[in-house]
Amino acid sequence: MNGLLPVEDAQRRLLALRAPLASEKVSFSQSLGRYISGDIIARRDQPDAALSAMDGYAVRFADLPGPWMIDGESAAGSAPSAHLTGGNAMRIFTGAMLPEGADTVILQEDVSVAAGRLSLTAGDDVKHGQHIRARASDFAAGATLVPSGTRLTAGAIATAIMSSADQLDVGGRPRVAILTTGDELVPPGHTLAPGQIPDSNGTMLAAMLAPEPAEVGLPLHLRDDRAILSRVLKDLARRHDVIVTVGGASVGDHDHVRGALEDAGGTLDFWKIAMRPGKPLIAGTIGDALLLGLPGNPSSAFVTATLFLLPLVRHLAGARAPLPDVRQAPLAADLGAGSQRRDYLRARFENGRLSVFDGQDSGRTVPLAVTNALVIREIGAPPRIAGEAADYIVVA
Ligand code: AMP
Ligand code: MG
Repeated sequence: MNGLLPVEDAQRRLLALRAPLASEKVSFSQSLGRYISGDIIARRDQPDAALSAMDGYAVRFADLPGPWMIDGESAAGSAPSAHLTGGNAMRIFTGAMLPEGADTVILQEDVSVAAGRLSLTAGDDVKHGQHIRARASDFAAGATLVPSGTRLTAGAIATAIMSSADQLDVGGRPRVAILTTGDELVPPGHTLAPGQIPDSNGTMLAAMLAPEPAEVGLPLHLRDDRAILSRVLKDLARRHDVIVTVGGASVGDHDHVRGALEDAGGTLDFWKIAMRPGKPLIAGTIGDALLLGLPGNPSSAFVTATLFLLPLVRHLAGARAPLPDVRQAPLAADLGAGSQRRDYLRARFENGRLSVFDGQDSGRTVPLAVTNALVIREIGAPPRIAGEAADYIVVA
């Protein structure tokens, strides 16, 4: 084709450069956002006995329609005071163990009590076994509750705790260094001289990585100087799993990332991807560290970070499915034909439809502020009309 690497090939090669980090044990309260190593297997039945799902009375279905003598009580947290014997009903509360002999729970709203005698006043369609949570109806010992490589959400943590594990094995947290390069860049919020621009990418990348289980250092900035860049890369490589540079990835006289990678004793794996924005993308290794060189245009940096940096960090952190999900939704307006590279078009997904922004120039930052989707347009794709479905990636 045009000598550019297809996105999927580049992603595969990048993730193949390093295996996931070693796993470690963490407490439940430290586990949010981590990737579980090994399946979470239930060590017990939940519930471990038949429980009442309501406040009411436990009875034997065979004794219906009553009346019954009330005998004993079963409340959550302890075993019932006795077995249930024929003709009797036991007071029972939500979450309490069903006494032996009982097989049905009648709601307290459906009965009246006088002098220790219980009579049915409503609910004459009482069903055998009603309002009972059977033993192991939630899960049985030995069941896989959360598969290996799943990201631990609050709900997954709750399930893991219920499984009776005491702590969790999770993937490691990759150490990530962010390095911005460019003589024109000044720190965010500083006064600009002519020709200077604020360094937005460093902080943007840190923000994109913030929800990931990674140790991310404060972004560093370097001038366009190959010798300094190579020294810093060599030094960072000793203490990081991933170094992400931004800017200087192309072929200009001031683009030094590839040269500095070589000077630092690193190895280039690939460069140049069949995508737009983001063609110049550098992947390589320096010692044990991975180098990912993103292009400097803000949209290019955003798209390549979404497609390469986040998946790389998730892969190292033990994710089962580190690549972004591709979904489908109808287009809100017509879309022109594809080009020689696959496009990732900044777009907004709203009310079930995808609006692709005008002005996809990779130097523009304004669409980024409201982008929540990247519409994928394949190489050579025919024009499409409003209402046709398009593939897209959700971005945060
Ligand atoms: P480069 O990849 O170094 O050729 O940069 C491409 C464009 O992105 C240039 O217009 C740069 O000024 C701009 N750029 C590079 N790095 C950053 C950054 N950290 N923040 C904002 N813009 C940048
Ligand atoms: Mg530059």
